[in-house]
Formats: sequence, C-alpha cells, structure tokens
Amino acid sequence: MTDATAPITQDVLTLPRKLPEGDRMNLVGLTRDQLREALIAAGTAEKQAKMRVGQIWQWIYHWGVRDFSAMTNLAKDYRAMLAEKFTIDVPEIVSKQVSADGTRKYLLRIAGGHEVETVYIPEENRGTLCISSQVGCTLTCSFCHTGTQKLVRNLTAGEIVGQVMVARDDLGEWPEPGAPKDETRLVSNIVLMGMGEPLYNFENVRDAMKVVMDGEGLSLSRRRITLSTSGVVPEIARAAEEIGCLLAVSFHATTDEVRDKLVPINKRWNIETLLNALREYPRLSNSERITFEYVMLKGVNDTDEDAKRLVKLIRGIPAKINLIPFNEWPGAPYQRSDWERIEAFADIVYKAGYASPIRTPRGEDIMAACGQLKSATERARKSRAEIAAEAGLG
Ligand code: SAH
Ligand code: SF4
Repeated sequence: MTDATAPITQDVLTLPRKLPEGDRMNLVGLTRDQLREALIAAGTAEKQAKMRVGQIWQWIYHWGVRDFSAMTNLAKDYRAMLAEKFTIDVPEIVSKQVSADGTRKYLLRIAGGHEVETVYIPEENRGTLCISSQVGCTLTCSFCHTGTQKLVRNLTAGEIVGQVMVARDDLGEWPEPGAPKDETRLVSNIVLMGMGEPLYNFENVRDAMKVVMDGEGLSLSRRRITLSTSGVVPEIARAAEEIGCLLAVSFHATTDEVRDKLVPINKRWNIETLLNALREYPRLSNSERITFEYVMLKGVNDTDEDAKRLVKLIRGIPAKINLIPFNEWPGAPYQRSDWERIEAFADIVYKAGYASPIRTPRGEDIMAACGQLKSATERARKSRAEIAAEAGLG
C-alpha cells in the first residue's frame, strides 16, 4: 500500500432499489431472487413464484417484451396486477449518432434527468457494446474526458442492463416467435469501458451482469464480457469470484511516478499492489488472460524503455496488451504517439511473447472512441461557459 492521501471517493449517489409506496417498481435489473421476492410481496403464491419468475424473465429478456399484456401465458388478471404494481423500463434514447464506420453512439436519459452514453461497435464477425457503469466518474485520469465530468452517480443494475436492451431495440435484435434461431448475434460482446469505474459500483454491475449472463434471457457467456478497471485492488478478487467475466486493466504506465499522474488511483494502490491482485485473477475466475490497456501518449509513456519495463513487470501473468492510440478531446493535455512509435512499442511487446494488438479508434468522428465519452449536456454547459468567457462575461 502506498500513499493513501489522494482523496478518492466512491461516495456517490445510488438510487434506492425499493421505490416509495405507491410507485411502480421497475423489474429490469432485478436478479431472479429479487424478482421472486417482488412477486411474492405483490401477492403471488410462494409455490407459484418460481414458475412466474421463469415466465416473466423470458418475456423480458428473451423476447424483449415491454408490456405485461403481451405475456400471453399468464392469466389476464395476473397480467393486470403486474401492470398495476410494476414497470419494464429501459433508459430513453435522447439521440443516436452513427459514424462513417458504422459505430453507433447513443445518448441515454435515465432517472433524475441524468445522461450516459453507450456505444455499439460492429465488426466483421461480432458486435461489441460498450456500456457505462456511472454517470461521469469519481476518478480523474488526466487523459480521459469522462474524468473531467463533475456530476457523478452510480447507475442502477436496471440502467446497466437497460443499455443492452436499448441497443437490441435499436438494432432490431429481439427474436421473432417461430423464426429460425439466428446464431450470429449483433450484440455478441459487452465491454464495461464506457463512462465510470465499474468496480466503484460493484453490486449494481455484478447484478446487471448476472442478468445479462442468464441462459434464459440475454444469454451472453461470461467470456464475452470484459470489465475494465483503473485498478480498484480490493474489488478485483471479488470480481473474479462474483462475476467471473474477463478483466481488462487500465495500466498505462510502467513507473509509479508516471502512473500517479495518469491514473491517480495509483497513489492509493500502486503498480506492485495492482500486479499482485492481477496475478490471482485468472485462477480465481478460471479465465485465460488479462488484457492490459495501454494508452499511447506522445513523449509520456511511449519509449522503448517503457515497453521493456512493461513486459518485465507483467512476467508470469497470462496477458494480452492492448495498445490504445490516444483519442483526443477538446482541451486534452496530451497528444497521440506517432504511428511509428506505437508500432515500435508493439514490436517489443510482441517479441517478448505477448499479443499486442493496436486498437483501431472507432467512431472518432462522433466522439465515440474510448475515453471521449461525456454527456452532451455537460459539453453544452462547458461550451456555454466558454462562450461567456470569450464574450468577456466569464
Ligand atoms: N473506468 C474504467 C473503464 C472505462 S475507460 C477504466 O478506466 O478502466 C475504458 C478505457 O479507455 C480505459 O483503459 C481508459 O484508460 C481508456 N481511455 C480513457 N481515455 C482515453 C483516451 N482519451 N484515449 C484512449 N483511451 C482512453
Ligand atoms: Fe474514470 Fe476510467 Fe476515465 Fe479513469 S479512465 S477517469 S477510471 S472512466
């Protein structure tokens, strides 16, 4: 453990699960156990509850139904009771932008008028949905646009699962009754790489991923879900045990001095502490390897020496190193490393025996690439301030 003076807080607002008396409860994002409890509390007989959970679960997560009246294998008065007590709510799409490369960025509105972004990245034989876990982020990585956003609140499990459901709505991916099963899925992979630090919203992220992985619904395997963390060390083992998905870590530097500046959580859990936690992850989660994300910043972390130190540091950890050319945003204090530099770095890593893909920036024209997300209202607020400053009013 190193310097623990950095004020890193995870003390952010989480909405209560149970709504005040009289309000209808959203069923999206409840685990099977929670759904069962909710149905029993609404008067469902205990011995029927398990079956009802199974039926409602399938309607919501397999068929994508949003209206209780469409749940035709339930009795009419039971459906009416459900409609009276519950809702099936997903975030609302405020706007959708489609990049020249097919990447789609959704701005979603959630309870309280807050906004988050979700990005869909189509590739040749898969489609990856990049989802957010918080509005903004309490951490302040100096190269990340989200880290400059002031407003922060944790997303509920329903708002996290809801992002997947909204993307399926927009892509028209819910199955048609009677149609042959289509094996190629549009949303085939999920990465928790949008706004926020997923391990600072652990329970909601875990419950949401449990819903997403459930075989009778969205049914994505845990090997198609990657959680990216900046290095919240105490939660890493817990993520292995309670979620079991693949792990990516925002490594980005090879000395504590540089990492302290880029990823300030390093002041609390330094490189050595982080690596010790990562060494345990593959065994605890029974997964093959960890992805080390490394953003390439010109003149900051991109020398041959950095590459050599990197492979030395991670020796013994089954790993892939994902090099991310820095994505610029207005006012960013860094520049992207030159292409030759990135390739030279990749070469050293590759020769040391690690896969070292360079992540192609996707959706740059719509500010959808990694680290560029920040809600439009936040941007608008900033530009109004800028306008005021320019006009001499600020
Ligand atoms: N908070 C989590 C997940 C969200 S960020 C985390 O930090 O891991 C997803 C990835 O994008 C992280 O590796 C992050 O460091 C990286 N990233 C952030 N800003 C970036 C930028 N401007 N250019 C390239 N990558 C960036
Ligand atoms: Fe937060 Fe991740 Fe951005 Fe750092 S890189 S500020 S942890 S979202």
